[in-house]
Amino acid sequence: MYTFNPGPSAVYPAVRQYLTDAFDQDWLSAGHRSEKVIGLVRQTVTDLKAKLNVPQDYTVLFTGSATECWEILAQSLTPRRSFHLYNGDFGEKWFKYAQAIRPASTGLKFGLDEVPDVASLPFAPDDTDLVCITQNETSTATQLREGFVLNLYNRLGGALLAVDATSSLAGLNLKYIKADIWYGSVQKCFGLPAGLGVMILSPRAVAQAKAVNDRAHYNALPAMLAQMLNYQTNYTPNVLGIYLMSRVLADREPIKNVHQHLVDRAEKLYAFFEQATPLSPLISNYETRSTTVIGLRGDAALIEEIKGKAKEAGLQLGSGYGPLKNTTIRIANFPAVPDAAMEALVQFFVKEYPN
Ligand SMILES: *Cc1c(COP(=O)(O)O)cnc(C)c1O
Repeated sequence: MYTFNPGPSAVYPAVRQYLTDAFDQDWLSAGHRSEKVIGLVRQTVTDLKAKLNVPQDYTVLFTGSATECWEILAQSLTPRRSFHLYNGDFGEKWFKYAQAIRPASTGLKFGLDEVPDVASLPFAPDDTDLVCITQNETSTATQLREGFVLNLYNRLGGALLAVDATSSLAGLNLKYIKADIWYGSVQKCFGLPAGLGVMILSPRAVAQAKAVNDRAHYNALPAMLAQMLNYQTNYTPNVLGIYLMSRVLADREPIKNVHQHLVDRAEKLYAFFEQATPLSPLISNYETRSTTVIGLRGDAALIEEIKGKAKEAGLQLGSGYGPLKNTTIRIANFPAVPDAAMEALVQFFVKEYPN
């Protein structure tokens, strides 16, 4: 069975062997203050920076999930308010979490085929702590491109730019220097089982976290940063998850190659679904379509039929999310989804839905 779910998503087949190695090499009961685990964390951070092109002066932290990052950012980097630009469920949830903690936070919802106009965004740069965007909105299969992020970064004033990159981190070649906080979890483009999040902070974000000096939460940034100076965490971390990440990163090609492969596959898939099938791309604007999550739409009865037939053919298609649940299908174009799966998907449509 090939799975195209956009999270939890396909894991690399090699994970099976890595799990056995983790057991055999005594990683599962290794103490998180031991030299063994400290060395693993140090190596994993080094490899993550090298393989994903993260600037050397950025800080990498481990968390439990992307959702936890929403709370950490509201608690530790938002003394006043954050501003949220969103067009789907994940961005909106982030906004709601932030608002629950910092009620003065505001948001703006934009359209699925729209590239928001940076110059007219309703936030006051010097009265806003964080500007928050979802680089790849998994629920709507849309993406904010590099040029947009750059334009936004250039008009931040005193605010920091925080980016949810959960379904593109380790898939796309993100320009980390053009934002202050990037985060995601590993069950999407890392090709790993869920249960670990990664947060990447610019020097400016680290300085701001120290100035805000949140001490009220177990995963408050100052304590996390202090522990990470010695490659440790405040709590017993997911050592298995970190070990698996280290193995997968060691196998990884440079992110530029991974990125190009995903871009090429996405172009082919969009072109195929534009022409040859009863479904059509959910997003019509080429500029806002996601590279890593391909959204397709059709009427609910047809979608149900397609999902059923695909399952019989060994293809687990991703359902829509939130309000788009019954009228869309999502196809994860993640690095761990093999080319053979994409070919099988195309062949399925050619055979079952010839035009
Ligand atoms: C999956 C996802 C999340 C949630 O990730 P968790 O690890 O389950 O907390 C958040 N944001 C986006 C964009 C996602 O795709």
